[in-house]
Parts: sequence; C-alpha cells; structure tokens
Amino acid sequence: MKQKIVVLTGAGISAESGIQTFRGAGGLWNGYNVMEVASIDGWHKNPKLVLDFYNLRRADAANAQPNLAHTELARLEQKYDVTIITQNVDDLHERGGSTKVLHLHGKLREARSTQNEQLVYDIGANAIELGDICEMGSQLRPNIVWFGEMVPLMETASHEVSQADIFIIVGTSLLVYPAASLVHYAPKTAQKYIIDIAPDEREMKRIPNMHVIANKASLGVSQVVEQLMNG
Ligand code: NAD
Repeated sequence: MKQKIVVLTGAGISAESGIQTFRGAGGLWNGYNVMEVASIDGWHKNPKLVLDFYNLRRADAANAQPNLAHTELARLEQKYDVTIITQNVDDLHERGGSTKVLHLHGKLREARSTQNEQLVYDIGANAIELGDICEMGSQLRPNIVWFGEMVPLMETASHEVSQADIFIIVGTSLLVYPAASLVHYAPKTAQKYIIDIAPDEREMKRIPNMHVIANKASLGVSQVVEQLMNG
C-alpha cells in the first residue's frame, strides 16, 4: 500500500506565480481591507465592491501559471497517495497536475446562489455582476468561504490529516482559523515539513518530527520532493 501524504498549502505557494498573499501587507490584500472584501459583513455592506474585487482576483488567477512548487507536489503522486488541502482559491494545484485537491476556502472559478448554497455554477474566468442570478432568481456570489462563515470541508480535511504518514505545510501564515488548527490533527509519528520564507520556527519546533525549511516554495518543495522520491 502507498504511504499517505497530506499537504496543507496557503497563499505563499502561489506567490511565485505572481498572485499576492495578504498577511505581509498588514491586513491589506491587493490594496483592499481584507474584512471589507472577504467577510460576510463586507458582502452585506457593499456587494459591488466584493464582486469587483473577486472579478479581479479571478482574472489574475486565470493569467497566472503554476510554478515549480505546484508541479513538484503533483510529481509525488507517482509514488504516494497524495491529498492537497489548500486555503487558496486559485486553481494552480489542479493546473500543476494534482488530482486530489480540497479547497477549504472555496474556488474563484465557481459562483453560487445567495439563497441556496447547494446551487453552484462553474463560471470559468468570467465575472459575476450585480443582477446575475441563479435559477431561483437570487443574486450570485463567489463560491468562497468568507470570514464569519463556516468551513464545510473542515471535517473531511481534519480526517485526512489524521491519517497522514507524511504531512507537508507550504506557504501559510497559519493565522486563519479553523484551517490553522489542522496542524494539530497530524499523528505524532508522522514526518512533518513546513516550507515558508518566514516560518514561525519557535512554534513549529514544538511539534514532534517537524522539519522547518525557511525557503521559497519552489526551492523548498523541490528539496523535500526530491528526498521523498528517492527515500
Ligand atoms: P497568508 O497571506 O496569511 O500567508 C502567506 C504565507 O506565505 C506567509 O507565511 C509568508 O511568509 C509565506 N510566503 C510568502 N511568499 C512565499 C514564497 N514565495 N514561498 C514560501 N512562502 C511564502 O496566507 P494564508 O495563510 O494562505 O491565509 C490567507 C487567506 O487568504 C487564505 O485563507 C486564502 O483563502 C486567501 N488568499 C488566497 C490566495 C490564493 O488563492 N492564491 C491569495 C491570497 C489570499
């Protein structure tokens, strides 16, 4: 039986593809206040601002290409049973070749009904405008999990992490909950790696079998994948 690898990724893995992270910019995301554009309260206050913001993010993501970190993680599938759990809303893991990707915080390329969250539509790289409606006649919104909303995939994700033989974290500040709590579901015996340009070394070293790699995602992931493919 193949060993199971679970990978938790955040915005840092897509930084080298030209997609901005937000923590580094003091709570600003591409110049916007995160709580105004990525919270349920922000949506109720100014839906047009939120739609415009995500329309720009969707266009950015469509123009970006997967980088070496995405494609190297996909290569692990040749030898391991790999699940990627990403906080990212872009589709660079899929375009990099990964086949099992859980999007904890939703997907830019999907719209959903504001009346019934089960009504989800693939919109590709297209914009959502005020007045675009679902089949029940309600406004469409991005299928994104905002601050102030439940994360429906948390249970599936925590179960995946609890079954991991190897757990790899890439490019996340581990500040956004509940996603950040996933780290604590990994078995004590699992080998763990964190790859980040500015990891919280003190905190990470308290976790058993954690290897801290303070490097860019492309270089750090290549190094770990090389080791795991040859090990
Ligand atoms: P974050 O912005 O809070 O943290 C980014 C992390 O990546 C930091 O720890 C930083 O040190 C690290 N980093 C930056 N550049 C890096 C590089 N080249 N290589 C390795 N590490 C690098 O991101 P987060 O923890 O994912 O939380 C942000 C939330 O915002 C997520 O929930 C996500 O939904 C959303 N978001 C998504 C995208 C995307 O889809 N690409 C982009 C920005 C924000």
